[in-house]
Amino acid sequence: MAKIGILGCDSTTRSMNCVMIGCFGNLREKKGSFADYPKDEPLNLIGIIHCGGCPTAVGADGIWQKVKALTDYGIDSLHLTSCLVQICPFKDEFIKTIRKDFPQLNIVEGTHPFHDIDAFKKGIRELVSQRAVPPQRMNDLVFKKIKIASDDKMD
Ligand code: SF4
Repeated sequence: MAKIGILGCDSTTRSMNCVMIGCFGNLREKKGSFADYPKDEPLNLIGIIHCGGCPTAVGADGIWQKVKALTDYGIDSLHLTSCLVQICPFKDEFIKTIRKDFPQLNIVEGTHPFHDIDAFKKGIRELVSQRAVPPQRMNDLVFKKIKIASDDKMD
């Protein structure tokens, strides 16, 4: 039985509220990047962890801790989520580091089928920059312009 760990992108989960529905659905149905496992072999999802946030100047060095948290439970395959594979500028460096530190690990790039890369990047850019539909901010509260969803009125 394949013992699987998933390494995801912190930004898509934390900032964009991704609940990984595509990753789990494809794992359950052995589709997407899970299609290559033998048909009669059950998949055992051991755990999920996220990268910890964009490492900027530190580079990929800290990723070993995240992967170790999964290898401690005996995973033999590590799937990088499809969003990480498609948008993460550190992806290749992460993979190089993981290969060096965990040579026994089967690294799989992806979870669900890949998106159209240009449309996906445009969508992610909008989710991050929020230009089309600007979010409310602290300044809206300070300047008493904040819109309240409930019947509660601001004094
Ligand atoms: S380092 Fe990559 S995977 Fe992690 S938050 Fe940044 S873009 Fe996402």
